[in-house]
Amino acid sequence: MKDNIVSIKDISKSFPGILANNKVTFDIKNNTVHALLGENGAGKSTLVKILYGILEYDYGKIIFDGEKFSPKSPSMARKLGIGMVFQHFSLFDSLTVGENLILGLDEKISFNKLKNKVEELSSKYELPIDLEAPITNLSAGEKQRVEIIRILLQDPKLLIMDEPTSVLTPQEVEKLFITLNKLINEGRTILYITHKLEEVIKICNEVTIMRNGKVVETCNAKDESEKTLATKMLGKKLPEIQKSNFSEFNETTSFRVINLVKKYNDPFLVDLDHISLEVKEGEIFGIAGVAGNGQSELMSFLTGEDVIKNSSHIEYFGKNISNLGPKDRRNLSIAFVPEDRLGHSAIPQLSLLDNVLLSQYAGNNYSKWGIINKSQIAKKTNDIIKNFNVMTPSSENYAGSLSGGNLQKFVIGREILTNPKILIISHPTWGIDAGAELAIRQSLINLSKKGTSIIVISQDIEELLEISNRIAVIYKGKLSDPMHINNISIEKLGLLMGGKFD
Ligand code: ADP
Ligand code: MG
Repeated sequence: MKDNIVSIKDISKSFPGILANNKVTFDIKNNTVHALLGENGAGKSTLVKILYGILEYDYGKIIFDGEKFSPKSPSMARKLGIGMVFQHFSLFDSLTVGENLILGLDEKISFNKLKNKVEELSSKYELPIDLEAPITNLSAGEKQRVEIIRILLQDPKLLIMDEPTSVLTPQEVEKLFITLNKLINEGRTILYITHKLEEVIKICNEVTIMRNGKVVETCNAKDESEKTLATKMLGKKLPEIQKSNFSEFNETTSFRVINLVKKYNDPFLVDLDHISLEVKEGEIFGIAGVAGNGQSELMSFLTGEDVIKNSSHIEYFGKNISNLGPKDRRNLSIAFVPEDRLGHSAIPQLSLLDNVLLSQYAGNNYSKWGIINKSQIAKKTNDIIKNFNVMTPSSENYAGSLSGGNLQKFVIGREILTNPKILIISHPTWGIDAGAELAIRQSLINLSKKGTSIIVISQDIEELLEISNRIAVIYKGKLSDPMHINNISIEKLGLLMGGKFD
């Protein structure tokens, strides 16, 4: 067995206006978990896309398993023994899990054979999935399981995982680590992209830190602390978050959900079971929970994408708005950031400018008598880019060309700069690095200080504890009583997330 499964030497790759990888050089030792750590836009995804044959490098050399390596396509990379779990899921929403798995295979096999293989893998690695379920009904966590099974079906030597834990609960993360451990015991190697410093220390052997397209350093993870890693990653120390000093007693209720009940008669959707909540002006109200417990169903009622005719379960400053759709709610100054950034929140094939125009055509001076006011939109778009530190060469770039965290900063910035009365946001920092995460959390707190009520749906307990004033837990479509941030523990949250109400 070779010492190094991969040797990357002087790899460079540029996009128009940007050098995404600048002479990247490091080795990945065989049979280890190797972390790739870096801020948004550091060039991590570009590098792994090169390894997986999605992008071709401009310059440099890669040795994989002792051979010179420059895959021209993902199927070629897979044939040579590389598998990848993406940050943005690459599944077809309208198809079932089984159909997606079949489509992803390079060698065609019968459905029965696939079923047997999947059952074997899913019990061996503790990754339960339902082959008949349509992808569209799965939570982000469940979709990820499908992606992992899909690469395991290809029996790869090297598994690349791009931010795999960002959608998981603490318990699911532990399970994933067990899976990773088993993969290592079988002699495989894992390239683990993350921005979570504690994960690097906990499960990785070596870590390569990237900044601005370059490798800062490759070092032994066990010799590092979260602080040393953060400093190397950012090139500077992170500021502390400035908390809000909200007090619920002197504030008005701005948004209420009253006894919301919805039965879908669909095994893949979660019924909403008498959900009630009240949010005050200036309050951040956190909703915690394991993926797939009704978060997306609840979200679609909060945004107005789903409404129950003639009901009165949603109030805005005492006024029944249950029957209003998303556009009318936006007009009332309620802003939304849904979970799926590339599907719901932004259109990847359009420029950032056009994305701003599309989401905010109402209530703005962007067009008059059918003529679009380009300079107004450009100003707004550039404000977002500047205030939220979005890394992009220009506002004309396609939304889809931004790295995950940058797109997230862009979408959230776009909503925050409307100065909404209510902001409803799902997974605000999913899949992004420490610097951007801190910036987004701080911007939510700052917005709440101006009086905006914010509902945050998140699986990241640390995040909710950091920014929320009160937290409730959703489980099987039921919402627990909210708990004040001052008398809440992670243990209690964990129990509630597992359904131990009362
Ligand atoms: P990371 O994964 O570390 O967040 P990326 O590799 O996604 O970073 O991005 C590195 C830089 O390259 C970013 O500035 C990003 O905007 C740019 N970039 C990535 N892909 C493209 C593309 N297809 N076209 C233009 N620019 C891109
Ligand atoms: Mg990335």
